[in-house]
Amino acid sequence: MEDAKSSVGEIDLFTGVQEADVVHKHIVFRELSGIEEDVLASKKMSVSSKITRVLANCVQAFGTIQDRDAVNKMVRKMTIADRIFYLIQLRILSIGRDIQFVDKCPACGNEDKKDFDLNQVVVKDAPVATSLLKEILLPSGKKVRIKVANGESEEKIEKATTDDNAATIGLFVRIDSIDDQPPSLVHVKQMSFKDRNALRKEIDALEGELDDTYKTSCPACGHEYEGDIPINGVDFFFP
Ligand SMILES: [Zn+2]
Repeated sequence: MEDAKSSVGEIDLFTGVQEADVVHKHIVFRELSGIEEDVLASKKMSVSSKITRVLANCVQAFGTIQDRDAVNKMVRKMTIADRIFYLIQLRILSIGRDIQFVDKCPACGNEDKKDFDLNQVVVKDAPVATSLLKEILLPSGKKVRIKVANGESEEKIEKATTDDNAATIGLFVRIDSIDDQPPSLVHVKQMSFKDRNALRKEIDALEGELDDTYKTSCPACGHEYEGDIPINGVDFFFP
């Protein structure tokens, strides 16, 4: 049941999701309600599944798709950058566009209050939904097919990451094949540093990036520095 008074927003994703032959980019969504607040506060769900649930709940139409099960699947297939972008738009509609936080000058340690307009966050060099795979050649001669990470990859990362494998899992979920074979975690772990760095570079170029950085100068010492806006899933909605 929809509250008749809840605000409705619309966005166009940077990449979108391909379903059959159509790429759906337009999302009509409603603001957050108590249902989503409970999801965000849940201690039983993983962060990535919370985000998926919240994003999917608020979708009223994903392109031409309105069926709930289909919408859930589409949301899990959104690229990570698109997911964060939509999450930010949900925050803007539900709470507002201004985010305030405290940052520390790296030169003198002075703490400074920052005010940022979330409407400025965009995805740079976003991939197109019809080419989310790319074949590359690593320095060792291995042929690797990489893929753009999405909500499903995020869930896999969260489930599989332990203290000592985070970097490897991050690469592993973005590999479709190595020399035409399905990748194994061991293969990725044993890759040379050169190969892994080349792989990371190609992945970054393929995925584009959500630009959430800001430039500022310290009022105490005048040092100019760059920082990231704190957009971390759950806390982001409880300012
Ligand atoms: Zn300073």
